[in-house]
Amino acid sequence: MKKIIALALAVIMLLALVACGTETFKCEICNKEKESSVNEVELMGKTYKACDDCYKGIDEGFDALGDAFDL
Ligand SMILES: [Zn+2]
Repeated sequence: MKKIIALALAVIMLLALVACGTETFKCEICNKEKESSVNEVELMGKTYKACDDCYKGIDEGFDALGDAFDL
């Protein structure tokens, strides 16, 4: 019986994580443990998991590149 309760709790926790969309993961851009939504970024044909901060930075970086090369 205790196992079933533990399983139910695990499922609820999992659902809660999915619902709020954030999890603790290691950002592959800044190499820090971050609690944020996981953003998938494709750089040089490889896919990286990026935290919100890095994702924003990369986005702005691309904008800056676009301005620099008049794209
Ligand atoms: Zn990061």
